[in-house]
Amino acid sequence: MIIAIDGPSGVGKSSTAKGVARALGLGYLDTGAMYRAVTVAFLDAGVEPSDTAAVIAATRSADIDISVDPDDFWVRVNGRDVTTEIREPYVSAKVSTVSTIAECRADLVKRQRDIIMAHADPGIVAEGRDITTVVAPDAPVRILMSASEAARLARRKQELGQKVDEAQLVDQVLRRDRDDSKLVNFTTAADGVISLDNSDLTKEQTIQLVIDIAKGVAK
Ligand code: C5P
Repeated sequence: MIIAIDGPSGVGKSSTAKGVARALGLGYLDTGAMYRAVTVAFLDAGVEPSDTAAVIAATRSADIDISVDPDDFWVRVNGRDVTTEIREPYVSAKVSTVSTIAECRADLVKRQRDIIMAHADPGIVAEGRDITTVVAPDAPVRILMSASEAARLARRKQELGQKVDEAQLVDQVLRRDRDDSKLVNFTTAADGVISLDNSDLTKEQTIQLVIDIAKGVAK
């Protein structure tokens, strides 16, 4: 069972994907964490975001090790544990550098497909921006999540608390979505992809809905 979930920032992809993976005994792949880990790697190496060739080289040479256990998430890059660091605002501010370079995407997509295939039995829930369309277009369950801008901003704000001010919050959600959508479409559902607007749903209701969809497909 492969479940692919895409959607914009703050829509609740991670908590949904994790909750579904737990409930169904599947693995969980946070593809955004891989883009974030590469961002830490290129910044660690002193590469300027404007130096595209160097960002591509840093991506290709990044040794990424990522957990697929929904109850024990960690990620390491080039031997360093960056589980907490990848959520820092300075990483969110620079991650689109990686996601808007086609060569970086191609490299990460290949790695993501390998991880998904390695966990196809019993299965895995993978979430990101291009899982339903590029990484796993043949997944039996493909869902595009959406929510109003207000709902997404409010959720991110709750998640980040005091860590960010209003301008950083808008940067993390709206500016990032705008940049991220340069090479990938995660606002219109592709053919065969189920749309799920969860503006008025709780986290638990969203998880249950995805479980119901997956069970319906598995029948
Ligand atoms: O999901 P998360 O906010 O952690 O993703 C971090 C960043 O990784 C996104 O802003 C986007 O630039 C990139 N990303 C992507 N494609 C994916 C997953 C994430 O471009 N499948």
